[in-house]
Amino acid sequence: MKKGNIPRILLMGAGRFGRNHLRVLLKLEKQGLCKLAGVVVRTDKHRQELMRQYSIPIFNRLSTKLLQSVDGVDIATPTPTHFSLVKSILRHTNILVEKPLALNSRQVSIISKMARKYGKIVMVGHIYRFHPLIRKLHSIIQSMGDPYFISAKFLYPETKRIKWDILFELLHPFDIVEYLYNLVPQSGFRTHHNHWVSTSIFYPRKIKGLFDIGFHKSEKIRTLTFHFKNIAVHCDFEKNSIEIVGGKKTKTISCSSKPEPLQLELEMFLKVLRKEHYTYPDIALAQKIIAGIEKIKPQRVPRKPKIAIIGGGVFGATAAIELRKLGQVHLFERGADFMEGASYVNQYRHHMGYHYPRSKETVQESQEAKPAFEAVYGKAVVRHFPAFYCVSRLKSKISAENYLKFCRTNHLPFTRCYPSHDFLDRKKVSLCIKTGEPIYDYDQLKQNIKSHISHHGGISVHFGSCVYGGGLQKNGTKYLKVKQNRKKHKISFDFIVNATYARMNEFAHWFAFPIKPLRMDLVELVFLHLPILPIALTIMDGEFPTLVATGTPRIFTLGHVRESLSKSCVPPDGLVPQWQQPKSNWHQIVSECRKWFPILQFAEYIESRFVVRAVNAYREHDDARPSDIIKHGFGCWSLFGGKVITAVTTARSIAKELRKMIDSPAFPG
Ligand SMILES: Cc1cc2nc3c(=O)[nH]c(=O)nc-3n(C[C@H](O)[C@H](O)[C@H](O)COP(=O)(O)OP(=O)(O)OC[C@H]3O[C@@H](n4cnc5c(N)ncnc54)[C@H](O)[C@@H]3O)c2cc1C
Repeated sequence: MKKGNIPRILLMGAGRFGRNHLRVLLKLEKQGLCKLAGVVVRTDKHRQELMRQYSIPIFNRLSTKLLQSVDGVDIATPTPTHFSLVKSILRHTNILVEKPLALNSRQVSIISKMARKYGKIVMVGHIYRFHPLIRKLHSIIQSMGDPYFISAKFLYPETKRIKWDILFELLHPFDIVEYLYNLVPQSGFRTHHNHWVSTSIFYPRKIKGLFDIGFHKSEKIRTLTFHFKNIAVHCDFEKNSIEIVGGKKTKTISCSSKPEPLQLELEMFLKVLRKEHYTYPDIALAQKIIAGIEKIKPQRVPRKPKIAIIGGGVFGATAAIELRKLGQVHLFERGADFMEGASYVNQYRHHMGYHYPRSKETVQESQEAKPAFEAVYGKAVVRHFPAFYCVSRLKSKISAENYLKFCRTNHLPFTRCYPSHDFLDRKKVSLCIKTGEPIYDYDQLKQNIKSHISHHGGISVHFGSCVYGGGLQKNGTKYLKVKQNRKKHKISFDFIVNATYARMNEFAHWFAFPIKPLRMDLVELVFLHLPILPIALTIMDGEFPTLVATGTPRIFTLGHVRESLSKSCVPPDGLVPQWQQPKSNWHQIVSECRKWFPILQFAEYIESRFVVRAVNAYREHDDARPSDIIKHGFGCWSLFGGKVITAVTTARSIAKELRKMIDSPAFPG
């Protein structure tokens, strides 16, 4: 075509995407940028329907004459038709085709040869290259160097089922990474879920990726996060925004949705046809991306995979119990027994939700987790004693009225009454409710765990074994470095579950996974002897005391939100600081708590236990304590236990995912 001429374009396909192309082409025609020669559809019925709506030629057959009369064809038909249509059109004219160009690199090679033979242009609709958000992102990350990890979720409502590879159909995150970093996957693994695929990817330059792609549930999610050393850049294509997260600070950049990416793409095609532009997403680029995706293979998992669990607290031990049905489980605990970490030093509340009036999420999670926990560890739950929750008159983060409303909306049963004056100074509180929130008995829970582990078999427990390193191998296995009795071992596994609580980010460092921002608190919990029946007294919600019975008669735990806290910080590397054990503050803790609970005058101090409490960083606004499962990809998970009651449900969620990986079909179906 001669420079300066107005290109004549034929559109193929007028389905959901085709209609969009039609709308934009008509707009460009109005602007004098192209002439629309017509639209080709598959059936006569569709042709008639379009003829009623548009005053442009509509065809239901492609002829050589028609093809030779145009400067380019815009193909917006379903993916499996691309290869054969491109092949039949290419000898006559130029093409813009929706991505993917074809369904494998062999087909792309055939197209490439034909394009060379006939001297035609084939541009591929890698539309995200024209997205204003990606162009903005490009300018933001330019000075940041390489990310070490990229995660993406491109999940569309499950209205569509496709029989070809979902990764080709929705290749956008691969395309974006190629556009930004000139990189395609070197190797990787995929797990097929119903209509979506989870991929763990090794990119060159030691960059790793975890992309979930496909059709899943009813919500549309399109997010992409680039993890750099101290910063994460998070893009949300639904909100059209970019967030730059560095520690506590988040900078949000709203992007424009104009000009429309499809318009930019079609304009580029027209410019290429008019010989005003020479670089565009071409066959070589499509080939590069498709060949990269082809390197992501289904992971071969042995029938009885080797599973490592790091940490023998309630979360690690429960994960071992649930996962032993799926493979050979090895549990590594650096201590001499189960439950010696935070599972030992806590207030043993069997949380029903009363404690989290500012976090509905935490309440719901506790309520949902209760049946499963009690089915496995019900024997350890101690009930039938009064647990009082009060609201302070002064400096409370919640009012009495709102606390009552919170209990009612969350179906938390209570009666309004006070314990006797000896127990609580009523002048200090504006509300007191009596609940039946139980505790769990630490010794009984540990006993239950031990008997589950020894009765069922299939779990090798390694006490005195400190895991101090690890890494990924290209064949998909992982290795851990374990120190036991001064001996060092390097052991390979198919799957790893990290359940080390406050130390969980050590694992992320070994494997170069993104760290979870945690606030670390060094806390002193006081154990007391009190000659009274079991009771729990808690003042909500702020710097107040709490006294809770334990499973042992007359032994209580006592904490004070301000006085029990000796150090607190959010370490930028996510690791537990090298804190020395502080001087005990038990005197002050007891005397502050006594102002609220006069009964403490009869208390005898037994001991203080110190523990590093880890909570999600920057959640002071709602004090949420959800338990998290961090899916790192590559067959690795970290379990972060917010409350003991969620130990069984979180372990089962991992078991479900792991089973999926074991059963995943080799190819989509
Ligand atoms: C002060 C306080 C009060 C709390 N009160 C309650 C409450 O009333 N109710 C409630 O439900 N929850 C409460 N919690 C939270 C609860 O304690 C935790 O959610 C739970 O104990 C976490 O269990 P875990 O198994 O993940 O961690 P842990 O019990 O700490 O177990 C982790 C294990 O990993 C081991 N480990 C670490 N690194 C390595 C390594 N490199 N190699 C080998 N082993 C390793 C550790 O030795 C440890 O045994 C409280 C927490 C604190 C700190």
